[in-house]
Amino acid sequence: MHPVGAEDVRELVRVGDDGGRPQRQDEARELVGEQLRRLEVHVGVDEAGHHPGPRGVQHLGALVLPETCDDAVHDRDVSLEPLAREDGEDRAPAHHEVGGLVATSDGEAAAQGSHGAERNTLEPVDVLTPRSLDEALRLKSEHPDAVPIQGGTDVMVALNFDRMRPETVLNLNEVPELRGWSRANGSLRLGSGLTYDEALGEELAALLPALAEASRTVGSPQIRNRGTIGGNLGTASPAGDALPPLLVEGAEVEVVSVRGERRLALQEFLVGPKRNALADDELIVAAHVSPSGQPQTFMKVGPRNAMVIAVCSLAVVADRERGEVRASFGSAGPVPGLVTCLLEDAVNFPDRVAEAASPIDDVRGTAAYRRHALRVLASRALERCLA
Ligand SMILES: Cc1cc2nc3c(=O)[nH]c(=O)nc-3n(C[C@H](O)[C@H](O)[C@H](O)COP(=O)(O)OP(=O)(O)OC[C@H]3O[C@@H](n4cnc5c(N)ncnc54)[C@H](O)[C@@H]3O)c2cc1C
Repeated sequence: MHPVGAEDVRELVRVGDDGGRPQRQDEARELVGEQLRRLEVHVGVDEAGHHPGPRGVQHLGALVLPETCDDAVHDRDVSLEPLAREDGEDRAPAHHEVGGLVATSDGEAAAQGSHGAERNTLEPVDVLTPRSLDEALRLKSEHPDAVPIQGGTDVMVALNFDRMRPETVLNLNEVPELRGWSRANGSLRLGSGLTYDEALGEELAALLPALAEASRTVGSPQIRNRGTIGGNLGTASPAGDALPPLLVEGAEVEVVSVRGERRLALQEFLVGPKRNALADDELIVAAHVSPSGQPQTFMKVGPRNAMVIAVCSLAVVADRERGEVRASFGSAGPVPGLVTCLLEDAVNFPDRVAEAASPIDDVRGTAAYRRHALRVLASRALERCLA
C-alpha cells in the first residue's frame, strides 16, 4: 500500500495555534513527525493524483495513530484522538480513527450531527430554495434530513471541512417571513434571519443593548453581515455569542413545522452542547423578547479583540424593577448558564456566577481560568450596570 505523503495533506492546522496554514510543502510531515497531540487535519485528496481516495482519507489512520499509552483527549471543543506517531504500516484504519483526526468544534455534535458525513466531497448536494415560510415548512417535512442554511457561516465551514455532507440543503435566504425584526405590544420579534449587523442597528441596539454589544464582537464585518441569530440558535454552541444576551432577557424561541407552532423558553431550547430541541421537520422562525429596558452589558474574554471564539463570555442585566441581577455566561458549561441574584445580595453576585459555571479545560483556556475570568467579568459588569 502507498503510505500517505505530506503532499497528500492539503491543510494541517495546529489547534490552539493561530490557525495559520503550513507555509512549506514539507511542513505537514514535520508536524506529524513532531508528535503533536492536538492538530486539525483537513484531509486531502491529492488533486494531481488519479486515485484521490486510496492516497487520501482512507489511509490517513495508518499514518497517524494513537499510542495505547496515551490518554484520550477529552475536549468538548476538539474531538481529537491523541496523535502520537508516524506509522507506515499497512493497516486498515478504523472509520473512527479517520473521523477522530478531523477536529470539530464540538465532539458530540460531530458524532450526532454527521448529516451523512460518510458521503464524500465529490458527491452533489441538492439545494432547495423556498420562497415562502409555508413552502419552507413543506419542504422540511418532505426532506427532514435537509440542512437549513441561513448565513452559512457555520454550515459552509462544516461542509468545507467535510464535517457534514448532506444530500440536501434548505436555503432559507429567500423566505421573507424570517427576515428583520418587529415590535408589537412591548414584545420584539427577531426573525431567525436577523443578522448581527442588523442587531447593531441604532433602534434595535437601544432596545437590546447587550445583544448589540455581543453582535459587535462576532467574527468580522463579513461574518456579522451574513451570520444570523437563527443560525446561532441552530448551532446552539456553548460559545454562541447571541445566546447569553437573549437568556438574560428571558427570550423564547418560536419553532414551526407543518404540524404547528411551539414557543420554547431559550433555556429549554438549548439541550446540550450543539444540541437543540428542534424536531426534524421544524424550523426556527424567530426569537421573542420583551426588553426589560434595564441597564445591561455583554463582555467576552478572548486572546484578541476580533475573530475569536469566546474563552468565556457574560451578559448581565441589573434589573432594578424586579430587584434582581441576572447573568448568563457562555463557554463555561455545556450550554450557556443563567444565574439570578437579588440586588440586595449583589455583593455575592460574582461568586454566584463563578460557582454556577461548569467549565472545562480545553485549547482555549483552563476551567480554573474561566471561573476566575467569570468572577472578574461579573464584578466589572455589575459595576458598569449600576453606575
Ligand atoms: C470566521 C468566523 C467567525 C465567527 N465568529 C463567531 C463569534 O465571534 N461568535 C459566535 O457566536 N459565532 C461566531 N461564528 C459562528 C457563526 O457565525 C454564528 O454561529 C452565526 O450566528 C451562524 O449563523 P448563520 O446564519 O451563518 O448560520 P448557518 O451556518 O446558516 O446555520 C447554522 C446552524 O443553524 C441551523 N439553522 C440555521 N437557520 C435555521 C432555521 N431557521 N431553522 C432551523 N435551523 C437553522 C443550520 O442548519 C445550522 O445547523 C463565526 C464563524 C466564522 C466562520
